[in-house]
Amino acid sequence: MRRIQLHDTRSGELRELTPRPDRPVGIYACGPTVYSRIHIGNARPYVIFSLLSRFLAHEGLEVKLVINVTDVNDKIYDAARTQGVGSVELAERMTAAYKADTDGLGLGRPDHEPLASETIEPIIELIQTLIDRGHAYTVEGDVYFRVRSDEGYGRLSHRRLENMDQGEDDSDATLRVRKEDPLDFALWKGRKEGEDSFWVAPWGEGRPGWHIECSAMAEEFLGVGFDIHGGGSDLLFPHHENEAAQTRAARGAELAAIWMHNGMIQFTGEKMAKSVGNIALLHDVLEAHGAPAVVMYIASGHYRQPLAFSDSALAQARANVDRIREAARKLSPGDSPADLDRLRDRFFDALARDFNTPEALAVLNEWLREAAGPMHDSPGDSHLREMLGVLGLESLLAPRAEAPAEVTALAREREQARAERDFAAADDLRERIAALGWEVRDVTGGFELITLGP
Ligand SMILES: [Zn+2]
Repeated sequence: MRRIQLHDTRSGELRELTPRPDRPVGIYACGPTVYSRIHIGNARPYVIFSLLSRFLAHEGLEVKLVINVTDVNDKIYDAARTQGVGSVELAERMTAAYKADTDGLGLGRPDHEPLASETIEPIIELIQTLIDRGHAYTVEGDVYFRVRSDEGYGRLSHRRLENMDQGEDDSDATLRVRKEDPLDFALWKGRKEGEDSFWVAPWGEGRPGWHIECSAMAEEFLGVGFDIHGGGSDLLFPHHENEAAQTRAARGAELAAIWMHNGMIQFTGEKMAKSVGNIALLHDVLEAHGAPAVVMYIASGHYRQPLAFSDSALAQARANVDRIREAARKLSPGDSPADLDRLRDRFFDALARDFNTPEALAVLNEWLREAAGPMHDSPGDSHLREMLGVLGLESLLAPRAEAPAEVTALAREREQARAERDFAAADDLRERIAALGWEVRDVTGGFELITLGP
């Protein structure tokens, strides 16, 4: 297995992935809050962490990918109220839409997709532990985390306590009075007038805060001290800092070994947020450009960097996809030539160095150029199949299918016509074969039929 290094936000360094013995590599990535259809910015972590788990599986590791769904949240209550629907109904509808939209990427689903609303018992247990250990306190049905009780607080996001704002107090001035310290954040919010969903906890009716959901869901599926915690860089503070603090305080151990953060998708220089007027819903982008182009677009940038969103960026990704698809048609099924092994290896080496997908794509293009060179005649496609599989782009390879008898018969006729140097007839037959959805290629010793695909 390759040595795999990933950039860890907490240490600020590349860290080697060292899986726990007898445990699958655990990856937890923060998923969407389901109050509206997701946009291309939400799709980025979904694609990155799906491809990362494909790569780790390629390296022979067993992987467990968990991407949660936050279906209990202030934003959902607000959106439901505005639309005049129940919050549970809205969350259910948007969860289904999120799954349909991400299905459209063609990358399959994570191993687990826990819902906050289905993790309430472990959440209550975790909060109770924090209260019992003196890291949390109740005030009028709310529960707050005592930030100054956690010595490691701020180490993940590299912030000083005086520069921290939990972002909770803007709309509710009374919060500031209820908290012991403005730094503290909510673990549980007591039920408020007009909130139509709630759960019963030892300290009263209400619902969990956002941060505690992830600590509980991650621990449920991966245990404490799992391998990789992922998410957008916009979640680093306060969300991830608070997740880390809750687990450290309750369990006396770090939640995750490596914290990976992906950069934001930028729309004319602005962070892509739903509050920004320019919205690119994943559903619409997929409709306009197709799944392979969207996956290619996201893989074309290094995950840590911001990625500019524009029609021309998507058009370029689509052109890359078309070029690979076209080049793949000139390959034959089977083993690739050994002299191309070094390029295949460089492709995977690039992924092992902080998951450098743009470098890997550059190597893939080099492989295609060499495969098309004079040294090779319709070389085997196994390397390309292996590389595209990890990128979730295996659909770019012509499907390996048997041509129907009718098509094969036409190809034989054409072969005969060529042998008799009747090129007009051969040409005519080639067109008839194409009309049936197949491409005939002359290869050493005969012909080959390639489906033109959908
Ligand atoms: Zn989270």
